Amino acid sequence: MAFIVQKYGGTSVGTTQRIQAVAQRIVATVKAGNSVVVVVSAMGKTTDGLVKLAHEISGNPSRREMDVLLSTGEQITIALLSMALQELGQPAVSMTGAQVGIVTETAHTRARILRITTERIERHLQSGYVVVVAGFQGVSDTEDWEITTLGRGGSDTSAVALAAALHADQCEIYTDVPGILTTDPRLVPEARLMEEITSDEMLELASLGAKVLHPRAVEIARNYGVTLVVRSSWTDEPGTKVVSLTPQNRSLEGLEIARSVDAVEFDTQQSRVGLLRIPDRPGIAASLFDQIAKEQVDVDLIIQSIHEGETNDITFTVNRRSIACAEAVATSILPNLLAGFTPHPDAIPEVVVNPQVAKVSIVGAGMIGRPGVAAQMFTILAQAGINIQMISTSEVKVSCVIESFTETTVDELCHRALHALQAVFEVDSSPTPFRQDEKIGVHGGSQPYPVVRGVALDMKQVRLAIRDVPHRPGMASQLFQLLADHGISVDMIIQSQRCHETNTFHYRDIACTVAETDGEMARSVLESAMTNLGYGAVMIDRAIAKVSIVGAGMVNHPGVAARMFAALSERQINIQMIATSEIKISCVVDKSKGVEALQAIHQTFHLAGNYPIHIPS
Ligand code: ADP
Ligand code: ASP
Ligand code: MG
Repeated sequence: MAFIVQKYGGTSVGTTQRIQAVAQRIVATVKAGNSVVVVVSAMGKTTDGLVKLAHEISGNPSRREMDVLLSTGEQITIALLSMALQELGQPAVSMTGAQVGIVTETAHTRARILRITTERIERHLQSGYVVVVAGFQGVSDTEDWEITTLGRGGSDTSAVALAAALHADQCEIYTDVPGILTTDPRLVPEARLMEEITSDEMLELASLGAKVLHPRAVEIARNYGVTLVVRSSWTDEPGTKVVSLTPQNRSLEGLEIARSVDAVEFDTQQSRVGLLRIPDRPGIAASLFDQIAKEQVDVDLIIQSIHEGETNDITFTVNRRSIACAEAVATSILPNLLAGFTPHPDAIPEVVVNPQVAKVSIVGAGMIGRPGVAAQMFTILAQAGINIQMISTSEVKVSCVIESFTETTVDELCHRALHALQAVFEVDSSPTPFRQDEKIGVHGGSQPYPVVRGVALDMKQVRLAIRDVPHRPGMASQLFQLLADHGISVDMIIQSQRCHETNTFHYRDIACTVAETDGEMARSVLESAMTNLGYGAVMIDRAIAKVSIVGAGMVNHPGVAARMFAALSERQINIQMIATSEIKISCVVDKSKGVEALQAIHQTFHLAGNYPIHIPS
């Protein structure tokens, strides 16, 4: 007998007929000898409907009342599904989040789960009941017992958290697609189903816009080693398994907030190459990284930020062993990149190299949706007197490149940084792991994983550019702390390489992306601190899309970035920003080109399957 948590999403319970079909599936699972806890979403588009109602009354409804309102959607489904089960002769009982004891922080509309009381559910299970729990909602740990919600899409998180707390054997997420696909089938109907994916990869995909799983659900599965399966509620196909490589023995107290950072990683053997003031047009990144891949040089971080005018900078890091080769390629390709381009006399393109750089990263799924963590890292480095040269972020990693320009060696700087970070985050540090493809081959399947697993598109971000930020320790820290203090999560953070000099002061631009819904607030918060912090201007660009590729095998395969950039350049899509981590590459492009970019990249990596995916309406 197994103990299974099943979660059914909105479409799966969209009508009373669908609720009856779901009830039958649950009964079949029970008859097969299993104990079942069910988590459900609101029916169909109920939550969207409730949001719309609220906005008909108020342009800025209170977050507390939004929670009271939105939590009603799931309460309808639990009652109806329990009735449908009872009709089939299956004892069932519905429970709201508060009745279960899903205790959260008070942060309305985006609360994190602190702990889950399991006694009441266990008692019902022992009496032979199926327990039907309302997803997406909880109750605060304050004396007012506030109703809270976890954020849109949060029922997945309720289900995986329950599976962790109850030590279930498996958590099954039932949805309207056959499982996790190489990309969103609504944009690419030939997207292919994956049999398995690692939770590391899924975490990136989910946070980069693959809506099929709530990123926090993947985070919990990864942290607690929950066996997670995503499958269709319309068929009996096995779906996709999300595998966690290192199930850890963690306390269930502070479930979603216990630890924001799991590890500090470093690499003191890096070198940096920057191509400054090169033309900002399609094809530049593609030619550069194609040439570098031909020399078999493995590139680590790639960063391209934004600049005023018609030029841009691309900076990348390589292992120090390869620096001579990387520099030679960059220098020899520069004239080709400049073909037909007349540089401004004050802005002559050039290749700059620093052989002595180190990369320090904080890693941890607990950073998701916690705006203060990146800011905290920048503050710690600033307090240690370290000036950050480059920043590259992913949802689960923040990497800072540091360099030495004085007699202090980069090793010394790096160790100073590690000491400080370790002390504050209370974790060990270790060299950046060099992932091998074989390591991920836990799937036992006959086929090796493709290097690129999935492609995701996020059209719900805006970009903020902060111009002329004084280049001194502490600036990134102050800027991002400011946003964090207002609850704004920053996604990509890119500090440009280029420095302007005015009266011997150095200035740099910093760009970042934030959720569309936070854009206006982020802009006004940053603008209000402009004079105080001494930067020049804050600009917002809403017409952006972020397209990303994810794959744990990318590290050992030079040329993946070049192929992605080439797919964009063939369609004349200009890349505005680039940020990479070991297992993902993200490019910001014009919003109107987002879908085309996704389709081009999906095609270039041959990810399509043989049949279009059917999505029930
Ligand atoms: P549910 O209501 O069941 O939670 P969601 O609408 O939240 O379902 O998530 C399922 C949807 O996620 C699919 O219909 C699909 O359009 C979208 N999606 C985006 N990226 C992917 C992907 N990589 N694999 C599968 N589905 C995806
Ligand atoms: N009903 C909620 C939403 O639409 C939660 C969920 O379905 O996961 O966001
Ligand atoms: Mg969902």
